[in-house]
Amino acid sequence: MEKRLYNFSAGPAVLPVPVLERIRDEMLCLPGCGASVMEISHRSKQFIAIQDAAKERLTRLLNIPAEYDVLFLQGGSRLQFSMIPMNLLRGQIGPAQYVLTGSWGKYALAEAKKEGATEVLYDAAATNYDRLPNDGELKISPDAAYVHITSNETIQGVQFPNDLTSPAPLVCDSSSDFLYRPVDIQKYGLMYACAQKNAGPAGVTVVVIRRDLLARSSDQLPGYLNYNNHSKEGSMWNTPPTFAVYVLGLVAEWVESTIGGLDAMYAHNQKKAKLVYDALDASPSIYLGHARKEDRSLMNVTFRFPTEELEKAFLDGAKAHRLDSLKGHRSVGGIRASIYNAMPMEGAQTLADYMRDFASKHA
Ligand SMILES: *Cc1c(COP(=O)(O)O)cnc(C)c1O
Repeated sequence: MEKRLYNFSAGPAVLPVPVLERIRDEMLCLPGCGASVMEISHRSKQFIAIQDAAKERLTRLLNIPAEYDVLFLQGGSRLQFSMIPMNLLRGQIGPAQYVLTGSWGKYALAEAKKEGATEVLYDAAATNYDRLPNDGELKISPDAAYVHITSNETIQGVQFPNDLTSPAPLVCDSSSDFLYRPVDIQKYGLMYACAQKNAGPAGVTVVVIRRDLLARSSDQLPGYLNYNNHSKEGSMWNTPPTFAVYVLGLVAEWVESTIGGLDAMYAHNQKKAKLVYDALDASPSIYLGHARKEDRSLMNVTFRFPTEELEKAFLDGAKAHRLDSLKGHRSVGGIRASIYNAMPMEGAQTLADYMRDFASKHA
């Protein structure tokens, strides 16, 4: 078999090897089933057990209380940009407030504007989205329909390190940092994450929603776009993305059983990020970090070089070390190293070693 690369792709992204091996082993014949997970009814007892187990693992990992429901939806986080204001803003008196710390928050706002009144509570445009609001800078109105944040801006590489306290329902796009640390879910009204960054393959999006917010959805909404239908039917209002739910469940099992839960996952992620940022900070004339230091993401490390030639040389040289998919997002350029949950320590170490070596040769 060809050797695997260290895959720094921003998404779809690296998955844990034990999960891939398990999928391979069960591909033709799911134990006790005589068929592939892709070939069985979503209403079979085998699949229902798989989906229930995935939901239970997420509930345990995130400590989700009974006042919340966990939904498995399709359409990615982009559909949530629309579903959230359709369900939570239509018919409300107060506006939806958006905190813009990068590209994804701006895309979310653009969709909300189509549904009702919005306000921009914070916008880091002036500094090219290199930072988060300072303590006390966010003035969330208690009358807001909700306030929307992006816990990790995948393109710019800035990340909220803690759970915010909000007087209005806090809606969080957690697409690129779902399950990376323990969270206080009770601070959130709704948390959502497409799986393909940090939690599984493309095709399933997790929505954790406080049940009282379900009362806001109008019966006039298109059926698929109404959270109530999914909640009432246990995410089986229509056929769920069965294979993606299966893999998401295996990844959650890996976080829980192999890594040892979210505290251990967080410690692991902090260690990996430190390796890479220490290498970056050791050569500030070569590596121009994008994010303000205190707002750096543990998931996506973003930086540029003083010249295009150095960037090209860096990417060319990376290949020899099996370091792959390091090119930054097309909208911002430079380098983006995505070091999600499933990136092994060895991958982060190999990147850090390469960065130190490259800097010593080009200083
Ligand atoms: C990738 C990403 C999205 C978009 O997800 P899709 O599944 O492609 O719709 C939204 N928000 C964030 C923070 C992301 O990283």
